[in-house]
Parts: sequence; structure tokens; C-alpha cells
Amino acid sequence: MSKQQIVQWIEENQASFDQLADQIWAHPETAYEERFASEAQIAVLQQAGFRIASQVGGIPTAFIAEYGSGSPIIGFIGEYDALPGLSQQVNTVPEPVVHNGPGHGCGHNLLGTAGVEAAIAAADRLLEEGLTGTIRYYGCPAEEVLSGKTFMAREGVFHDLDAALTWHPGSSNLAVSAGTSALTSVEFYFQGRTAHAGAAPHLGRSALDAVELMNVGANYLREHVPDGSRIHYTITNGGVAPNIVPDQASVWYFLRGANREQVDSLLERLLNIARGAALMTETSVTWDIKAGAYDFKPNETLNDLLVAQWEEAGAIDFTVEERKWAKQLTDTLDPTALRQAKHQTERLGLGEEGPLPTGFARWKPIGVTLGGSTDLGDVSWITPVGTITTTCAPVGIQVHTWQATAAFGSSIGRKGMQYAAKLLALAAYELFTTGEETLKRAKEEFRQTTRDSVYIPAIPTEAQPPILKTQPVEVTR
Ligand SMILES: [Zn+2]
Repeated sequence: MSKQQIVQWIEENQASFDQLADQIWAHPETAYEERFASEAQIAVLQQAGFRIASQVGGIPTAFIAEYGSGSPIIGFIGEYDALPGLSQQVNTVPEPVVHNGPGHGCGHNLLGTAGVEAAIAAADRLLEEGLTGTIRYYGCPAEEVLSGKTFMAREGVFHDLDAALTWHPGSSNLAVSAGTSALTSVEFYFQGRTAHAGAAPHLGRSALDAVELMNVGANYLREHVPDGSRIHYTITNGGVAPNIVPDQASVWYFLRGANREQVDSLLERLLNIARGAALMTETSVTWDIKAGAYDFKPNETLNDLLVAQWEEAGAIDFTVEERKWAKQLTDTLDPTALRQAKHQTERLGLGEEGPLPTGFARWKPIGVTLGGSTDLGDVSWITPVGTITTTCAPVGIQVHTWQATAAFGSSIGRKGMQYAAKLLALAAYELFTTGEETLKRAKEEFRQTTRDSVYIPAIPTEAQPPILKTQPVEVTR
């Protein structure tokens, strides 16, 4: 009965959460700037009787909302940052709301809102049934730069959790038992000497030459790194004009690998390459480690718990119009990429329903680490984390594209979000009531998967969230 009451609560209250998700979609804010989103969510949670801890880890847009007391302590992990340059209307042709403006191309407007909704729905049950337990909603900023949760984790705010539940907008209802890559984000600043590039080039020492030589070195490094490593960079400063020897240049690297150890070792080797490039060009180099995230460790027990809730949650009911719109949106994709996405969906047993599948699948690739990274990885080294995706966009739509921004602002995205809120709230309710055994198994699995290493934050102890920097990193002359 009680589980049905959760579903009913969500259905009765869904309009206000749809509105919250839409408002955040319409006010896209990039990493560490999410004032509108965090304040809007805090207001809703406060109204529902949650206690708020704000500015967690010294970040103005990070907060924790808590309800109830005692154990177990179950946390919902939310995000709300947008991506630069992905502004897009809810339309099947590329048409930004603001030219080059930010947009919710990763659907974090939905991600956070479903967490808020699930937390409040579960709190309603705790109150009604006089249950013991603590519900937390973690408002986590800056996932897109992979560091919000790492600064929060350094404060120890996840350490007393019994379990964490979360989700991500996707193009099918899916629980994936694969890890993601560990990552280090590091920017290098070379300092040389300026000179007239035509009249007196011999007097110049080019910082740009150093950047280019460093990149050559890094590209040769690729052959001698463990399989699955990834090295990518962008030149963030290449000088100002061809006739001025650049005295300052910078390059920003992401290093990824199967685990923290591999990435730490990659970083040591890249630092040597940077030093070598400086030596060759008679320049100097400094660097700034911007983020360090752990690989994500899935928890199959909690994933299974989330998936099992579909029996109570029912299925998403997409309309004929929504399916038509979804088809129009996927018509804009590269046909080969779309075909591959469809084949993958078929292999998962979800291919029957066209662009908006409503069934549920488990994907358990053995020993696979996905190429992407997330700061949720750090949380998964501290407490068991269960996560799923739900259908918020048509099959074939990749996150971080204009098509994704369109889908995550549409009724398709909102329906997927409501479904996720139900699954999250139902799973938490089970942990508060009959889930003692499940929780035990989840913790035992967590102990097994993390037994080889101890969690130590990968960000340097002196690193501060970028919001606290009043000036960009200074390079001394
Ligand atoms: Zn995302």
C-alpha cells in the first residue's frame, strides 16, 4: 500500500516539480554559477521541512538538505549545472535561445529536480508512518568540470551515508554495471620572453613553442600508456599576434585512466614532458590541478533495487505526438551513428518501441571502464551508490549536444524525470522499511569493490574551489 502512496504522491505533485525543472532549464548556469538552481531547490526543500546546510565545502552553490533522524542515512545526489555553448530551444532544428549561451545539454535540470522530488516524497512517508531514518539531498554544483563533489567529499559530507541513490537522464531505462574513468584536469602555463618576431626573433623565447613541444611529447606518450588511457588537451592561450613572440601560453589537459593510480602515474609522466618542453625552449612552466576525480564503482545491489521498483512505478506513457517529435529530432543525426545506437538498444532488448523505449534493461559488461568520467566516482569510493538512467531523450541522442538540450526541455524529458523520481523514492522507502538485508549486501559489495585502495581526495590539499579565486592563476615574470 505504502509504495502505491509514494507513486500517488508523485503523480499528485508532479506539476510543481515539472515547473522547477523547466525553470532551471530556462535559467541555464554553468559550473559554480548555479545560484538560481540551488536557491530554487533550497526553497522547495525548506518548504517541505528539510534542514539546510548551505555553502558546503566553501562553495556558494553547494548545499545539503536533511530530513528525519537516526539510521539508516540515505542520500539522493543531485546536480544542476549547464554546459557552455549549448543553448537551444525545444525544437527539432538547431535554434539557440541565446547565441553561444549555455544550455542543459546533459539534463541536469532534470537530474537535480528528480532528486528533490524523491527526497520530499520519501520524507512524506517517513512522517506518515513514523519511520526512523535520515533522508539527505545533496545539491552538488559543477559536475561538468568534474570537481563539485570532490570538494564536498574532502569536507567529509558523504562519509556517514549508508547508501546513495541517483540517476542520469538517458535514452532508455537502464542500469549499467560499468565503471567510468578516473580523471585529472591540469592546466600548464609557460612563461617566455617577448620580442619582435621579424626584427629580433633571437631575443624571444616562445611560450607557444613550449606548448607545442609539450603536446608533441604528450602525443608520443600515447603509445606507452595502459590501454584505455585518454589524453586530451586544448590550447587556452596561444599568444596574441604572429609578429610578437608569445611570452605567455597555456594548455589545458584531461588525463583519464581505469583507476586513480594509473592517472596519477600518467600525470607524473606528463609533468616531465612539460619540464622538458620548458628546458628545450628556455621558458619556465607552472601548473594548476583543477580537478581530480576517482573512477566510478557501480553497486549492483543498489542498481538491482532501483530497477526492481519498476513493478510499482509502472511505465512511462509517451504520446503519439511525443514519439513523432522524437523521430523528427533523430532525423537530424548522422545516419550511421543513429543506426549504431538503435542496434545497441536492440541488443539490450529494448528495440521494439522505436525512439522512446519504456522497458527496463540491465547492461553488465564484464571488466569494462567507460571513457567518460564523473565526480560521482568519488562518492562511489565513500559509500555504495546505486544509479540508473531513464528515457528522457530519443535513442541516438547523445548528451552534450543541442538535440539533448531540446529533449531535456521537452515533455519527454519531464516524463523521464518523473519516472526517475518514483524509482528513487520507492527504492529509498524500501531501504527504510524492509531493506535491511539489501543494505547489508550493498555494503558488503562496496567493501569488495573498494578493497584494493583507500579513498584519499585526488585534488591537492591546497586546492580551492574555483569560485574562491578572485584572480586567475598568476604567472610570475
Ligand atoms: Zn551529466
